[in-house]
Amino acid sequence: METKYIFVTGGVVSSLGKGIISASLACLLKARGYRVTIQKYDPYINIDPGTLNPYEHGECYVTTDGRETDLDLGHYERFTNVRTTKANNVTTGRIYQNVIDKERRGDYLGKTVQIIPHITDEIKRNIMLLGNTGEYDFVITEIGGVVGDIESLPFLEAVRQLRWDMGADSICVHLTYVPYLHAAKELKTKPTQHSVKRLQELGIQPDVLILRTEHDIPSGMRRKIAQFCNVAPDAVFQSIDLPTIYEVPVAMHHQHLDEVILTKLGVTPQGEPHMAPWMAFLEKMHKAEKPVRIGLVGKYVELQDAYKSINEALLQAATYCDRKLDLHYIHSEKIDDANADALLAGMDGVIIAPGFGQRGIEGKFSALKWCREHDVPTFGICLGMQCMVIEFARNVLGLTDANSTEMDPSTPNNVIDLMDEQKSISNMGGTMRLGAYDCRLKPGSLAAEAYGSTEVSERHRHRFEFNSDFRPRFENAGMQCVGENPQTHLVEVVEIPGKRWYLGTQYHPEYNSTVLSPNPLFLSFVKAAVKYSEDRH
Ligand code: GLN
Repeated sequence: METKYIFVTGGVVSSLGKGIISASLACLLKARGYRVTIQKYDPYINIDPGTLNPYEHGECYVTTDGRETDLDLGHYERFTNVRTTKANNVTTGRIYQNVIDKERRGDYLGKTVQIIPHITDEIKRNIMLLGNTGEYDFVITEIGGVVGDIESLPFLEAVRQLRWDMGADSICVHLTYVPYLHAAKELKTKPTQHSVKRLQELGIQPDVLILRTEHDIPSGMRRKIAQFCNVAPDAVFQSIDLPTIYEVPVAMHHQHLDEVILTKLGVTPQGEPHMAPWMAFLEKMHKAEKPVRIGLVGKYVELQDAYKSINEALLQAATYCDRKLDLHYIHSEKIDDANADALLAGMDGVIIAPGFGQRGIEGKFSALKWCREHDVPTFGICLGMQCMVIEFARNVLGLTDANSTEMDPSTPNNVIDLMDEQKSISNMGGTMRLGAYDCRLKPGSLAAEAYGSTEVSERHRHRFEFNSDFRPRFENAGMQCVGENPQTHLVEVVEIPGKRWYLGTQYHPEYNSTVLSPNPLFLSFVKAAVKYSEDRH
């Protein structure tokens, strides 16, 4: 079958959940046996979100091939179980960089380089890259931003041209918002009409409309929207707020979104999507009543998107343990030795979050000291693992000035130090140790038991590492280095055997946890938390 392209655009406001809708559609198509991928185009000038503070766009997600990307790629993987790559996230910055590099090389042969055709051609080339591999039946392309933004104009122009070139092999799905005015007790369709008009002015006629709403939209109103927007009445869908994002594919399927889209792309829908494993997950989630209380210690806790993949990995693990995730955010700047007991005593398990820089770091040490001494299941991720090592050095090895050279470049007890390969780096963008690396686990370790294997591969995003000069002292005192890179011997996993569950990973297992394939370390951690809660009650 010829690769089919589905373009997803958004109108009215941002944050409507284009990523979730795209991921849900991909989930349904995948469940029908098709090969699907999703790519995201971000209109900002940054080359990638790696240099962005999480307060800007939330978590930075990392692909196995080492690209720092938008967090929507995390949703794509969690919903489809299909790995994303560099090609799945492209920003305006990268498009311009490619074009400017070509100009400097002389590729444009003396021509004036312009937004049309050069920038739009580069966008089109990128959009087609995944489809041209022949590996996919459907390529879903999400255009970030909102129709009407200056920044998204070149992307929409590229979509217009591609739709013209591809004809029936492509469609446009437009997501808009139908607000409810409490004072008037009315749903309002005007913003949707306006946003479709904006799209039409740009030469794009949407084939399918998805209306985000907090209230049920009556069928008469949907027909009215269809009529005003030149869209078939059966191609107007509503996406109403649901208790969890994982219900969206099911809600969209109940309205026949997948069938309508297949039919519009000239594919006859056959049978039903195989959603049984997904439904089993949802059923477990609905049935779970007993809570598992997890504390997440980090400095971005006011922002729910900052630790997106950790939240989702925990939710998946809790669901498979038949528990309801009760997640408590604990601000690392607000916890200290004096209040750690009050803040942590109710937790069945504690996660120490990844991060960068000094802010909130002392709070992480206080939390870890309390967790280690009270033998609470504790999971340190990346910076969280590095903090585990530092806290152990300070309070068990007696190296009171132990630190990471990220926080104190002159400490003599640099138990966490800059990686050799990082010492000559001056550019900050895209230069960390990024992407998936192999890790060999010690047989019999907690980590090896959790994975059921001694060879794993997980994703990284860091510049600092465990300083192996200190390894014998740690191991003699009880903190074992149970995972290392087979080539470089870089320490990837530490644990304290004999504790209930005390483990830190230099890598980010949360990037590799999906609805149908939850990450084994998260499962093992949540199981230990459940057991701890049962032992106490
Ligand atoms: N700041 C630490 C480093 O660069 C940890 C990074 C992280 O937590 N992702 O090594």
